[in-house]
Amino acid sequence: MRNRRPAPLTDVSRFPLGRPRQVLFPRSERGVLEAVAAARRRGRPLVAVGRLTAYWRPIDASEAVVLDTGGLRGLGFSSGAAWIGAGVPVREADRALRARGYHLPIHPDAYGDTPIGAMAASACTSGVGMANGPLSRWLCGLAVVTGQPRLLTTGAACLRGVPPFSRDGLPDPTGLFLGSEGALGVVTRLAVRLQPPPYRVRVRGRGGLACGRALAPLARELGRAGLYDTFRAALTLEAGVLRGWEVDAWAQSFWSPEEALARGRELAARLGRALGGPVSLAAEPELARRGRGPEYDARWLGRPRDHALMARRAHFLGVDVNAPYEEAGRALAAALACLAQLRRARAPQARAALYFAPDFVNVGVHASLPARPADFESHWALQRRWLSRFSALDVVPYRFGRLWPRRMTGRLEPETARFYLELKRWLDPDGILNPGYPLFSGEAA
Ligand SMILES: Cc1cc2nc3c(=O)[nH]c(=O)nc-3n(C[C@H](O)[C@H](O)[C@H](O)COP(=O)(O)OP(=O)(O)OC[C@H]3O[C@@H](n4cnc5c(N)ncnc54)[C@H](O)[C@@H]3O)c2cc1C
Repeated sequence: MRNRRPAPLTDVSRFPLGRPRQVLFPRSERGVLEAVAAARRRGRPLVAVGRLTAYWRPIDASEAVVLDTGGLRGLGFSSGAAWIGAGVPVREADRALRARGYHLPIHPDAYGDTPIGAMAASACTSGVGMANGPLSRWLCGLAVVTGQPRLLTTGAACLRGVPPFSRDGLPDPTGLFLGSEGALGVVTRLAVRLQPPPYRVRVRGRGGLACGRALAPLARELGRAGLYDTFRAALTLEAGVLRGWEVDAWAQSFWSPEEALARGRELAARLGRALGGPVSLAAEPELARRGRGPEYDARWLGRPRDHALMARRAHFLGVDVNAPYEEAGRALAAALACLAQLRRARAPQARAALYFAPDFVNVGVHASLPARPADFESHWALQRRWLSRFSALDVVPYRFGRLWPRRMTGRLEPETARFYLELKRWLDPDGILNPGYPLFSGEAA
């Protein structure tokens, strides 16, 4: 384990997260156990971090021991699952799995540098591959260091002490750690189900402003038929001009390249009718399956280091919610209202984005604003207004963080609130893990 000189931290939205007391870079579970034990002895807050790209502000690093999880590496296979170290970036994990004939079924629609442990801590439900199920579906268990500290392995097979292959069959605490954003434990390893990659065909289309509402029913119907693994629609605002809807979808088949192609054609035809605009089909199902070629690369926003570049060039802001289809229209209206605000504020680039799964839609607003520090306060105030608007809907925030107004949790039942508090007290008796995180601090009740 190596000490780093602490400097004040900022997140991807350049929000100041405070100056940590210490930054540790453990390379093993033992290192994590020692770090948590030392923090508990000294009564210091301990905050696990990945790449600090969370834009919903889950982290307060002031005077905390910050545990950079990037050194928790390693990848081992058993017959039913791969144990992957929490610090392995998702793109690297996907490549390593593909080399063995498997793949990572879901990952953020980002640059590929997200550590897989952070993806579990923030419960990835949206992005590339989400139509086949959220991350929880592909996990057979986790290894987590709790605040006591203890090393806990979860998943039905882990409870029997046999190599992981399923989460089902026995009561399984895995789900409690998904989305708990470091407040219940430090995720050190993930057991990911071994899943062969599908043949994939990419379909792209464009349509006018009015076709947004037609997309949800189409995505729901085609999603229920299992036609695609990813269906993304974005309405982009560039230099004050709304550019219309751009859709990217990947048709898939686990059976054959021919079936993937046939499904791609079906998707293209249906999409063309909904959009009333041009649709193209890029068919390299074999290459895409092997994780090679431009259609595979299109599943990442760019090179891994571009994440930092993006954050340096502009002031990035975002908000996302998961909405049932019944609420999708109102969520889309909220996103369009935010986009209108951004247009009035002359944002150089922004988008309303819809990511579809068969049973819900992730609705988001993302903006790149001018990176003038003098404007940051007003940008964050704008982001709070978006959150307030979305919190009035019957939706679930895709991440909780510390930003949502109280009414997002205003309907939390007292017994549920008590359960969260007692769970926190049991797993983290001195409250050192990401203290002040609203869901586990009683604030949400
Ligand atoms: C341009 C862009 C596009 C994105 N697209 C998507 C998308 O499509 N889908 C999606 O789901 N997300 C998306 N994201 C969000 C991004 O992938 C998340 O930021 C990511 O899941 C968190 O990763 P991180 O390493 O930056 O975590 P951090 O910001 O470092 O941490 C996030 C939270 O997780 C906790 N944490 C981190 N690692 C651990 C660990 N090992 N154990 C316990 N707690 C831990 C932290 O304490 C914190 O509370 C996008 C982000 C950007 C900037």
